Amino acid sequence: MTMNQPESLWMTDSGSAPDCSVEGAVEAPVPIEGLRGKLTHDAPLAKLVWFKTGGHADWLFEPADLDDLRMFLEQLEEGTPVMALGLGSNMIVRDGGVPGVVIRLGKAFAKVKDLGGHRLECGGGACGILVSSTARDAGIAGLEFLRGIPGTVGGFVRMNGGAYGREVSDALIDCDVVMPDGELITLPASDLQYTYRHSALPEGAVVVTARFQGSPGDPAEIGAEMDRIADAREQSQPLRTKTGGSTFKNPEGHKAWQLVDAAGCRGLKIGGAQVSEKHTNFLINTGDATSADIEALGEEVRRRVYENSGIQLEWEIQRVGRP
Ligand SMILES: Cc1cc2nc3c(=O)[nH]c(=O)nc-3n(C[C@H](O)[C@H](O)[C@H](O)COP(=O)(O)OP(=O)(O)OC[C@H]3O[C@@H](n4cnc5c(N)ncnc54)[C@H](O)[C@@H]3O)c2cc1C
Repeated sequence: MTMNQPESLWMTDSGSAPDCSVEGAVEAPVPIEGLRGKLTHDAPLAKLVWFKTGGHADWLFEPADLDDLRMFLEQLEEGTPVMALGLGSNMIVRDGGVPGVVIRLGKAFAKVKDLGGHRLECGGGACGILVSSTARDAGIAGLEFLRGIPGTVGGFVRMNGGAYGREVSDALIDCDVVMPDGELITLPASDLQYTYRHSALPEGAVVVTARFQGSPGDPAEIGAEMDRIADAREQSQPLRTKTGGSTFKNPEGHKAWQLVDAAGCRGLKIGGAQVSEKHTNFLINTGDATSADIEALGEEVRRRVYENSGIQLEWEIQRVGRP
């Protein structure tokens, strides 16, 4: 089995925002000997991301455990692009699919453990609700905000996920990552150079564990705060739609949704993609959108906002793969 990926098919970003599309030479046999996880060739990704659009991964690997992941990556030909996928809640997978290998962490990576001292150790595949409810049960305050972010710990760590005045960088102690060559290293939070919705996590690195520091709290009060967050989300966001979360970062001193609204983009449509009527910083797939529709709509919104306000919106959503 080989991967053939002509250079010309590589995506180069047309917008001003950086994305996490991968670069490198790709004509590499993928190791298959001795794997215990699931390796799929030409794997559809649409069903694995919130937008429910986009192409296939050349390869999708769902490792059985950490050793399996490391063994796979150690044997992978150098230069093969590697990209981690969480719940795909902040991602547009372009219609031409993702080159190289997409890594999706399963059950073995979804555990959350109380370490004592108001610290939690969380698998990279654990979801926000599990982290915040484990923290509540252990009387650990400060992680309630993860209740409302529909992603995995790996996605939070890379994206510096945050809400209601808190973000991952406020609580992260360190994380264990597997590098694209299979090496396992521990990165302290300070190495990730966190800024708003951005980290310096190396490209292709897969977060397998993260440790968070909270503070002493009363489980009942923590639970009440989590409920408040869940209610506020329900009121303000199109949660039960095919969406990708906040599309654009809030520019310094502005709210992206207000800029989008003021530019007259509420409800704007291109193909099957629409700017949400409920929250104008969310794009939605109304049913038959392609990823190209969604991305084109985002670019049109950026253009109109710039025309209206002189402010260049920057994509928060990660756009990956070939157009
Ligand atoms: C309804 C809705 C509401 C949202 N609200 C918020 C909010 O309030 N605040 C907020 O910050 N975000 C919000 N988001 C966006 C999204 O949930 C976050 O960005 C989240 O951190 C993405 O997690 P994920 O696991 O789904 O990552 P994905 O969307 O799968 O991936 C996002 C990025 O993280 C990388 N990644 C994923 N897993 C790993 C891993 N294990 N190791 C290394 N890199 C990894 C991917 O390669 C990609 O670059 C919302 C999304 C939706 C759909």
